[in-house]
Amino acid sequence: MGFVLQGGKIVTTLGIITADVLVEGEKVIAIGSNLTSDEAFDVSGCYLLPGGIDCHTHFDLEVAGTITADDFQSGTKAALVGGTTTIIDYATQKKRESLKLALDNQFQKTNNKCFCDFGFHMGITDWNNNTVSEMKALMACGVTSFKLYMAYKGTLQVDDGVIYKALKTGKDLGALITFHCENGDVIDVLVNEAKLKGELEPLYHALTRPSLVEKEAVTRCLDLAELADHYAYIVHLSTEAGLDRIIAAKERGVRVLVETCPQYLLLDDSRYKTEGEKYVMSPPLRKQSDNKALLAGLKNGIIDTVATDHCSFNFAGQKNSASDFSKIPNGAPGVEHRLSLLYTYGVLKHHISIQQLVALTSTNVAKIFGLYPKKGTIEVGSDADIVVLDPNFKTTISYQKQIQNVDYTPYEGFSKKGKIRYTFLRGTKVVDNEQICIKHPTGKYQYRKPFKGGM
Ligand SMILES: [Zn+2]
Repeated sequence: MGFVLQGGKIVTTLGIITADVLVEGEKVIAIGSNLTSDEAFDVSGCYLLPGGIDCHTHFDLEVAGTITADDFQSGTKAALVGGTTTIIDYATQKKRESLKLALDNQFQKTNNKCFCDFGFHMGITDWNNNTVSEMKALMACGVTSFKLYMAYKGTLQVDDGVIYKALKTGKDLGALITFHCENGDVIDVLVNEAKLKGELEPLYHALTRPSLVEKEAVTRCLDLAELADHYAYIVHLSTEAGLDRIIAAKERGVRVLVETCPQYLLLDDSRYKTEGEKYVMSPPLRKQSDNKALLAGLKNGIIDTVATDHCSFNFAGQKNSASDFSKIPNGAPGVEHRLSLLYTYGVLKHHISIQQLVALTSTNVAKIFGLYPKKGTIEVGSDADIVVLDPNFKTTISYQKQIQNVDYTPYEGFSKKGKIRYTFLRGTKVVDNEQICIKHPTGKYQYRKPFKGGM
């Protein structure tokens, strides 16, 4: 049993070709002309994109005493509807907990819930004598990337010694170390000062995490990566100042991979004026000049990936019930709209080409996180994770239409051009005309390969 997608424009990082794609079982088995099979889909005029990979989501996560609005079921359904066929979520070690237990606990939450394929990074918060051997054991479980937080003093934050040791270990094991770059010590002081002055509104979330605290942490991270002679991967870069440090470091040979998110490309800090709680996330929204610099960073290839940092909380009852800005659960939804936002505001506004969209949302992500060429491309032998994007369509984004289980979207009223006519996950049609068309979760855990070094 198989099917053929006829006459679509196949987009890879190498170019665009019009051809038929023959799928059997879970794989692409031929690309060519006049291919036939049991079933045929006429997709002429549509783009065929490799299934999106969102390497930064937080589903079913407890933050500030409350749990995200999306669990692995609603989150992975929303991913598929938005053209993302694989997510990489975070397991995070609690203090005095082994990395393996942290992974097992996160796995429990996915139990029979994932509609798209999935994997995990591991957040290390408590470096100790067992950590190196535990990292090694996790590599054997397909967890080949680890995250360190330079922010969240007292809970997640690690010190520079741990950063250096993790980078050295990553180099030895073939693991990628990823970093949340904000200076948590300084933020802690600024937050306490603001609260003492009675500055409690959501805007102060942004004002107590200024651009310079990201720039400082990015700079330190890059220096430590240089010292350890290993790659650093910077998650959710939000500032022009940080980007400038990255460009300078790359020029002197420091190896760094960079992720940003749609919110840092398309939203700015004027959002904190009205219902600002919705935009309380870390790092916070920045200036339009930062948006512009990051968009240029996509175009010129300094930024490697666009993920979402999807971490959704309802405005009513979760976001808006906090007594001050420091108690608002951090995060915002995004997994469902990544592709359409980048297509509408990136490709159609000529910031990036559609091949770059594929690189940023799929191919680069697969290469960096050990999934390529199984995922991240449409090639003979690859998983048949294929998004059929019909460009002849225009609507607007609204929370009322979304699958993600949250009562708002930061992109309310944004234009959405192009429609995902179908999403295929490993050869199964899972989305038809923007609706999930399977009843049961079929997502598979992805064992990721060790980090091979850049792209
Ligand atoms: Zn995150």
